[in-house]
Amino acid sequence: MKQSTIDNLRQAVGADIIITEDHILEERRHDYSVISQLDDLQGRGAARPGCVAQPRKTAEVVTIVNFCRENGVPLIPFGLGSGVVSGVIANPEAVLIDMSQMNRIRKMDVHNLLVTFEAGVRGSDAEAALNKQGLILGHYPQSMAVSSVGGWVATRACGQFSTAYGSIEDVVFGLEVVLPSGEVFETCPTPRASSGPDLKELFLGSEGTLGIVTAVTFSVRWKPEKQAYSAFYLADMDRGFELQRHIIQHGWEPPVMRQYDASETKRNFPDHARGADALLIMIHEGPAGKVAAEMKECLEIAIDLGCEEAPVSVVEKWFEDRNHVPTFEEFLTQGIIVDTIEIAATWDKIGGIYRSAVTSLGEVENIANASAHSSHCYRSGINLYFTFAAIPGDSRQMSPVYYDCWRRVMEATIAGGGGIAHHHGIGRVRRPWLTAELGNPGVGLLQALKKTLDPLQMMNPGVLIPGD
Ligand SMILES: Cc1cc2nc3c(=O)[nH]c(=O)nc-3n(C[C@H](O)[C@H](O)[C@H](O)COP(=O)(O)OP(=O)(O)OC[C@H]3O[C@@H](n4cnc5c(N)ncnc54)[C@H](O)[C@@H]3O)c2cc1C
Repeated sequence: MKQSTIDNLRQAVGADIIITEDHILEERRHDYSVISQLDDLQGRGAARPGCVAQPRKTAEVVTIVNFCRENGVPLIPFGLGSGVVSGVIANPEAVLIDMSQMNRIRKMDVHNLLVTFEAGVRGSDAEAALNKQGLILGHYPQSMAVSSVGGWVATRACGQFSTAYGSIEDVVFGLEVVLPSGEVFETCPTPRASSGPDLKELFLGSEGTLGIVTAVTFSVRWKPEKQAYSAFYLADMDRGFELQRHIIQHGWEPPVMRQYDASETKRNFPDHARGADALLIMIHEGPAGKVAAEMKECLEIAIDLGCEEAPVSVVEKWFEDRNHVPTFEEFLTQGIIVDTIEIAATWDKIGGIYRSAVTSLGEVENIANASAHSSHCYRSGINLYFTFAAIPGDSRQMSPVYYDCWRRVMEATIAGGGGIAHHHGIGRVRRPWLTAELGNPGVGLLQALKKTLDPLQMMNPGVLIPGD
């Protein structure tokens, strides 16, 4: 980026907003995706952005957007950089707009249970602010402490307590978004509308390609009166899927329902793993009477299906470790390529996808682990979260093996009739398979939206939308 462009941007928005310090640029070259970390270690790392803009208010975002549009400069939104699908890869001609300084609570309306945060507020800070009032968000991604509320919207995130409280689309009440035109779009503060399509959905999962989310209003909850745990051993994954389906289709909603295959049970709960058994852990929350009734019914359903109770200490262990952020570097420097891939499918298809994806991963040369767990349960289906680890021997093979593992899981999911992305988004890593999911008309719709909202294709180019 030319120095004159940086100078002009500084003049437009204020010198203190535009940063060119080496370490700031260096730390924002990419998100947390494994492949970007591997590329760094192997000397192919992403370039630094031309400069970093750190706006503190919406008006400054508008100025930055207008400047980039008028000067043909690509603009890459950045929350807290915890994305895992290469939704952020900087380039030296781009301005990276780092939203982390837009970190205030705008409004806390306890009467209506509505709270508005600026987009850069850290998830754990948002929850802590609510807890002081006896409130909770109900949206708890594992990355709570390293991700922003704007990033959650942009990636269409999903939290660990989603079965009862829903995913981001269920807890977001309203949005403020700066469009590529520089206009500020705000949703109407109403609990429901029949005023045409829900326009906030355009930005849920838009991954920085259609606008910049500047504020998010959440519909929050009172802290539940009671929390209790239960766990069951499962003869196999299919038995567990049946158990979860019965529980949820009978109207029970433990916020946390997680089912680990035998391999993950051994890895995560070595003290309580039982032979080839899989494991289901659940957290029940709500009014004490509801929790007691739910636990009693879940136990009866489990016994009817031939499942045995497991010690609740497995749930206590999960709860303690639930927000642990793994460092991939220690694996990568030992020549181990690892990643996780989440998908979803209806109940009739999930067992087949589980088996074909794990089998296909198992055929990768030098594979050390191919396993899965489910973590989000719905009346009509469930997600799966695959984990692979391979040790190719020749470190030059780590990158090809990474892409091969992704291809295998994507192809098994598509062939099995599932959805390729449950909650991490598309980014660059999944983009080659989006057409298989949306079809040509669906991709055409996305492209038409992009062309209309961002005709110069300045917003986060190369991400999400095929052909962008
Ligand atoms: C250990 C770990 C655990 C995780 N657990 C979960 C989980 O449980 N559930 C889950 O859903 N995800 C999870 N993730 C993925 C990640 O945390 C989420 O995708 C998160 O929503 C990203 O937020 P961020 O602020 O870090 O965004 P970033 O990584 O900075 O950006 C992600 C994408 O959103 C765009 N973007 C960011 N902010 C804005 C904005 N204000 N306006 C427009 N576009 C924007 C970026 O351009 C990029 O495309 C996990 C990640 C890690 C590393």
